[in-house]
Amino acid sequence: MIQAKKRVYLFEEGNKDMRDLLGGKGANLAEMTRIGLPVPPGFTITTEACREYLATGRLPEGLMDEVKEKMKVLEEKTGRKFGDPKNPLLVSVRSGAKFSMPGMMDTVLNLGLNDETVRGLAELTGDERFAYDAYRRFLSIFSDVVLSNLFTRPDGEKPNLDRSRFEEILERKKEERGAKYDIELSAEDLKEICEEYKKLIESELGRPFPEDPWEQLRLAIEAVFRSWNNKRAVDYRNFYGIPHDLGTAVNIQTMVFGNMGEDSGTGVAFTRNVATGEKEIYGEYLVNAQGEDVVAGIRTPMKISELKKRDPEIYKQFERVCEILERHYRDVQDIEFTVERGKLYILQCRAGKRTAKAAVKIAVDMAKEGLISKEEAIARVEPQQITQLLVPRFDPQEKEKAIREGRLLARGVNASPGAASGIAVFDADKAEELGRAGKRVILVRPETTPDDVHGMLASKGILTQRGGMTSHAAVVARGLGLPCVVGCEEIKVDVERRLFEVNGKIVREFDEISIDGDTGEVFAGAIPTLEPKLEEERELSELLRWADEIRRLGVWANADYPRDARRAVEFGAEGIGLCRTEHMFMETDRLPWVQKMIMAQTPEERKEALDHLLPLQRGDFEGIFEVMEGRPVVIRLIDPPLHEFLPNYDELLAEIFELREKARESEEAGRELSEKEKILSVVRSLKEANPMMGLRGCRLGILYPEIIEMQTRAIIEAACEVKRRGKPVRVKIMIPLVSHVNELRWIRERLESVARKVMEEQGMEVDYSFGTMIETPRAALTASEIAKVADFFSFGTNDLTQMVFGFSRDDAEGKVIMPYTKMGILEKNPFQTLDVEGVGRLVEEATRAGKAANPNLEVGICGEHGGDPESIRFFHKAGLDYVSCSPFRVPAARLAAAQAALAAGVEDRTK
Ligand code: PEP
Ligand code: MG
Repeated sequence: MIQAKKRVYLFEEGNKDMRDLLGGKGANLAEMTRIGLPVPPGFTITTEACREYLATGRLPEGLMDEVKEKMKVLEEKTGRKFGDPKNPLLVSVRSGAKFSMPGMMDTVLNLGLNDETVRGLAELTGDERFAYDAYRRFLSIFSDVVLSNLFTRPDGEKPNLDRSRFEEILERKKEERGAKYDIELSAEDLKEICEEYKKLIESELGRPFPEDPWEQLRLAIEAVFRSWNNKRAVDYRNFYGIPHDLGTAVNIQTMVFGNMGEDSGTGVAFTRNVATGEKEIYGEYLVNAQGEDVVAGIRTPMKISELKKRDPEIYKQFERVCEILERHYRDVQDIEFTVERGKLYILQCRAGKRTAKAAVKIAVDMAKEGLISKEEAIARVEPQQITQLLVPRFDPQEKEKAIREGRLLARGVNASPGAASGIAVFDADKAEELGRAGKRVILVRPETTPDDVHGMLASKGILTQRGGMTSHAAVVARGLGLPCVVGCEEIKVDVERRLFEVNGKIVREFDEISIDGDTGEVFAGAIPTLEPKLEEERELSELLRWADEIRRLGVWANADYPRDARRAVEFGAEGIGLCRTEHMFMETDRLPWVQKMIMAQTPEERKEALDHLLPLQRGDFEGIFEVMEGRPVVIRLIDPPLHEFLPNYDELLAEIFELREKARESEEAGRELSEKEKILSVVRSLKEANPMMGLRGCRLGILYPEIIEMQTRAIIEAACEVKRRGKPVRVKIMIPLVSHVNELRWIRERLESVARKVMEEQGMEVDYSFGTMIETPRAALTASEIAKVADFFSFGTNDLTQMVFGFSRDDAEGKVIMPYTKMGILEKNPFQTLDVEGVGRLVEEATRAGKAANPNLEVGICGEHGGDPESIRFFHKAGLDYVSCSPFRVPAARLAAAQAALAAGVEDRTK
């Protein structure tokens, strides 16, 4: 005989591992029943039944028979009978999906009440007022969530049975009686209210309220099934990436009442403080109330600690339950409970959601208490949460308030974490001036260029209309630890008029704005921030030490200045994986010499400029070597196209037009004009249709070798100097944008002779090596050739992503990728999380081929993906030696690298 599929499980028939079938709530109710906690009897209808219902529009055949059978068990356990006018059993009907979706789907309480059973309830409890109050609540909830969703009015319209219509009736009655609170209404008043409610229902539906409890139960089950697809639930799933085809289970449970007097009540509590992580029960309790009253905020609940004073016996029992549940689940629990006439019932438990700070403290404490292993502690903390702990963030309540007040202006790409408020300033010079004068400035630009760095340094945050994760603004801001939002295409920045327009609103210079670099949100006005606190870092440091014991990947940092390097070391970086030397060229004391070098007409002129730059560069490198104390430092030779160091072509043209006018009257203007015209002709000669694919990277080094020779000299001289001071140095010289092995060979030979010459002059040897970035598809595809000439590889996944997708890293994110991710064409921004199938394949294959050709080859990654936890997991699997990311992301990367090692270990074991 074929066994019919089981669709209904008594709580005692399930367990915590049956979330797929019974939903999270059902599985936990089953588990709590199984371990003997006081759970009111009940059963769960499976998610499978829900899926069947949603597919066919009908309850599965035989389902209600199964439900009836289980109801019989509840009747036996409680000694009550469903629909019995003398001794009625009442139940709650609640949704409960595999993944918690709090408040998104529907719940019905007090089901089973009708004109007869309400009298039975009154007799049973000896409290008529209570019984009619329960009936009143049931009528309104049932109408709102069941009837209005399943029925149409006789005229075919949707019935209007919103809760507000029932509230109106209640309020009217209160007014008539001169009552301020519901509690002042008598049983008679409530009876009248119930009558009016039923009239309203009948007038809307064209049929009376369903008094038959079995009909009520069937309808409620259908309504809960359907609520899986209500708009709120669909939006929630979209937001959290929960699949839409799971369906919800339905939990049917004997009602217990927290509103049966002063010895009753209801509460919600966490087994630890989920805000701070402290080991203390944390939550609220409301005397003489039902669950919904706590959530609805009708009365202010008391702190759970007050329950201890008020009812020590119940508190002790509850404390014991907390202990049992935490031990059993080995995690913080979020518990709903009810006290009915002095007896404690547990209605729900689930893992407690916690703040970043609490997540770290709880994980570390639990490992120390022996409740979980160190590995589990590591796996339990989200790497991104750590980054949040180390940068200022908005006070969540204040941010919510700003959203409620309609101050959210726009959303861009979340390029660098942290939150900041300040006055909007539209040019870098002014930002520098005001920032230095102590003003909090948010620099707002269409996009930033190296010309803006001095202003960025003095700002609290950066907002740009264009650009993406790897744009100049994003990269520099991350290096500096500044909150940054880029690619915010909704704002239209007008630098001339010093304002930006956003959806019909205008934000002018000096208006206050706020940006959230974690979410990409931009707000009007200030929002108070919470500063990271040092005491939070004690547990964090401990957790990271454990992570360091487990991870295989090294974690290095991208740092251009000694102060970034210092921060990187503080955060645990083991080396510098990328020092972008061009950022040094942009400093105000150097840029004129860099420009002279570019504009030089003769080799002598160029040499003079380079001679000026040499000691400055040497000083930069000495600073970094000092800080790094023998840890490896990868210095990348000049990379960007030269025009980036010169004024903007269009702006220059505009200035020249203006000067032409003035030059007629003033000699001074004439001189300036001829100077600018000279610059213009150079800028014009350097202009390229596709600068990203043009004269940059190693190509620049090959065509202007004096620049990289000067840089190599500066590096080796600095290394000798620091070594002479008694500090160890390990330097790695990195050649960018190689696509053919001959490029690398040409440069390496030339620079190696410079290095040898300098060491000879200095009379000492230093530890140095030569390597290359792998950031063009050709380089990746010919990795085995290139590896023979390189001591190390570092994947430049920013350029590699740009070239593999053919997406411009400067502006594709706002213009194409954000719309694409919204439309579901791309799941994620590939500049943020590595595209494993495409770019990742090249990374994997180039690593394998490179290491096969040169067993000593060291392989790292220094594109922005080096700080992204998901990408880090991939880099671990691909066999890289280290990841390098901005200093602020180093702690998160350490944790992510440990998680990657743990996950890979599990995969290996299950192979
Ligand atoms: C890269 O391309 O990934 C990289 C690290 O170099 P940059 O971002 O400076 O081009
Ligand atoms: Mg690059």
